[in-house]
Amino acid sequence: MNKKQHPKILIVDDMPANIKVLAQILGNDCEIYSGRNGYEAISMAEAKQPDLIILDITMPEMNGFEACKKLKDNPVTRAIPIIFITDLNMEEDEAKGLELGAVDYITRPIRPSVVKARVRNHLELKRYRDYLQEISMKDGLTGIPNRRRLDEYLHQEWRRAQRQTKPISLLMLDIDHFKLYNDNYGHTAGDDCLKKIALAIEESLTRPADLAARFGGEEFACVLPETDQEGAELIAQRVHKSLARLAIPHAYSPIGSFITISIGVTTTVPDQSSSMDQFIKSADEMLYEAKKSGRNQTKSQTV
Ligand code: GH3
Ligand code: MG
Ligand code: MG
Repeated sequence: MNKKQHPKILIVDDMPANIKVLAQILGNDCEIYSGRNGYEAISMAEAKQPDLIILDITMPEMNGFEACKKLKDNPVTRAIPIIFITDLNMEEDEAKGLELGAVDYITRPIRPSVVKARVRNHLELKRYRDYLQEISMKDGLTGIPNRRRLDEYLHQEWRRAQRQTKPISLLMLDIDHFKLYNDNYGHTAGDDCLKKIALAIEESLTRPADLAARFGGEEFACVLPETDQEGAELIAQRVHKSLARLAIPHAYSPIGSFITISIGVTTTVPDQSSSMDQFIKSADEMLYEAKKSGRNQTKSQTV
């Protein structure tokens, strides 16, 4: 949820008058979207990614329970909290709704102050969950995606490449003689250097599907879906150039006056029998080759 924007609420009800009542209660602080049946609930939820859905239970065609079940089965809408709303004040309905994954239940007739308070509470929880989700995937020092996010993303894109028999490339990057940098300039300067390099790597990627992450320590990795060896080498060269432009002094580096990086690149078109671990290992091997060949360079292979 973007803090600067109003939270988005999707109200789904087959009676326009009911939507209007809720929209009047919540419209001042929230951006309101509406749908009139279960199908619209799903399509609107997918398209608008609301922060909360208020869902009527009794609707013709697909009712609220069915829509809730579908929303909870769909990875794109699963995390959106749902509040059921209904005229029927029946305990079994309430239990069923909550079992299906709804976070709350409101019965008509509506009391505006209660609706407001409950909605506010659930939006607050959603905001906090989003925040936790975001920071759990970010590296604390550099702000770029962390190892956990890298693993998750690489798995996802590896499977996609397998399904579509398309190439995927992986870059493993390791700063040259970084221990000497730390030992001589201090850890704080080392940390600053890592931040600058993380940014430079991230900015070297251009496609929305490319992902740069901190692998750990002074190592980084980039996942490049639908990218062949030539394309991946191009990105690696961009990183080298970007570091050259940054020109971070490293007077203790045996290979030059500035901070440099070594990069291992591997590319493959995975089939069902391909091993992702082997793929990662082959990028590591190329990184090792780059180090062995004098550092400040890229070595690549297609496997
Ligand atoms: P090579 O060119 O072979 O990669 O040499 P290197 O000195 O970079 O490699 P080595 O793995 O021996 O040292 C890595 C150093 O990176 C160790 C540590 O001083 C530094 N380092 C790792 N993580 C951090 C960090 O989070 N902050 C800082 N400031 N330094 C780190
Ligand atoms: Mg290292
Ligand atoms: Mg290193």
